Amino acid sequence: MSDTKKTEKIVGVKGMNDILPADAPLWELFENTVHTVLKSYGFQQIRTPIVEPTALFARGLGEVTDIVEKEMYSFTDSMNGDQLTLRPECTAGVVRAALEHNLTYDGPKRLWYAGPMFRHERPQRGRYRQFHQIGAEAIGFAGPDIDAELIMMCQRLWDDLGLQDVRLELNSIGNAEERNKHRADLIAYFEKNEELLDAEAKKRLHSNPLRILDTKNPTMQDMVNAAPKLLDYLGEESRAHFEGVQKILRHNAIPFTINPRLVRGMDYYNRTVFEWVTDQLGSQGTVCGGGRYDPLVEMFGGKPTPACGFAMGVERLLELMKASGEQFAPNQCDVYIVHQGEEAQLQASVVAERLRDAGLDVVLHCAAATGIGSFKSQMKRADGSGAAYAVIIGEDEIAQGTAVVKEMRNVEAAGNQASVPFEGIADYLVDQIVGAHDHAHDEHVHYHH
Ligand code: ATP
Ligand code: MG
Repeated sequence: MSDTKKTEKIVGVKGMNDILPADAPLWELFENTVHTVLKSYGFQQIRTPIVEPTALFARGLGEVTDIVEKEMYSFTDSMNGDQLTLRPECTAGVVRAALEHNLTYDGPKRLWYAGPMFRHERPQRGRYRQFHQIGAEAIGFAGPDIDAELIMMCQRLWDDLGLQDVRLELNSIGNAEERNKHRADLIAYFEKNEELLDAEAKKRLHSNPLRILDTKNPTMQDMVNAAPKLLDYLGEESRAHFEGVQKILRHNAIPFTINPRLVRGMDYYNRTVFEWVTDQLGSQGTVCGGGRYDPLVEMFGGKPTPACGFAMGVERLLELMKASGEQFAPNQCDVYIVHQGEEAQLQASVVAERLRDAGLDVVLHCAAATGIGSFKSQMKRADGSGAAYAVIIGEDEIAQGTAVVKEMRNVEAAGNQASVPFEGIADYLVDQIVGAHDHAHDEHVHYHH
């Protein structure tokens, strides 16, 4: 390889994003809020591998879904020939793990997961090849109560995140028998209207006609709107289940609309399906989708076990949070320590550790390629860090056994400084920062403490 080749920049994989430090506070706020809400409903976290056997998804998602047909990152393990896939979603993995470890031996389980998923789609706004989902799976629950609970948990999350423009669409897709009857009528109806079907729809006509209802092709809308509705085919039990979900939602003043054309991409869904949608993200407006998947555990070789869950798209929700205009830029640290001279540097490292003992977030100035830098350039760094305070230690300070503690942020007090003995700095700063926190509480300023 030539030298120029060696120094050429390697860039990341198309559609797979770096999440940069500037966005980290938003991710953290989002993740912490989700964890708190999930915990408040008694959900427990499960972490499954990113790589699973390809067969898991082929069987779990159905052979004729978009994901399995064209979106999976599948490969052969060159060491042993195993067929593997980067997980395109996590329900299949969670159900596999629940079965493998017999998690529901002592009753139903409320589980949640978070992490990257991989789908080979055309990258565009809100659609990436590596994206993140947080999801919940309630395994072993049969009634409409858990369906409603999952939905209400989402509503609480949107409320806590300050998201207002997310609305709930709800449908029931019944059971296999009801869908089969509907399917036969649907195929007959589409055959009657064959000249209106696009190529995609023709392909799906006999394999997965339900998905034709999901078409975004404008020229097919009228025809699709007049197609036989699955809701009209629901039997007594399916109807009662669907009524049950709606009753709980109404009782809790959760608004929803019934969308009879709502079907989910995966084959394993039955009965309740729902989506949370927004108009603020263009055509990628679905931020969360879920529903019941009673047949899945049995499809994986377990005993019949009802289950229900959802998955939300983290990137889409974060974009929605950004669109709300709120600022998410907490400080990198509470305190930035600058120093000049060998003794001061040693003392600074000790002070930094004492401040961290006291629970403060501290950045200690360290040498760059150009050296440690002047006080002036170090103070620029301190300013850029967003620290509320700078601690300054130079030769004079070493001689006096004190450091200069300088206000960096508070508008009224900015520039104020005090000389504080080294041993007293932690107490002094904790007092100052807790005081500032109490003061700032009503103004929605976010501090670490
Ligand atoms: P879509 O119709 O937008 O392709 P989907 O039905 O394939 O969505 P699900 O499999 O239900 O999506 O995944 C749940 C959520 O994950 C979606 O509602 C969306 O918010 C998010 N999501 C799905 N695919 C992507 C992707 N490629 N990039 C970013 N987010 C995604
Ligand atoms: Mg998709």
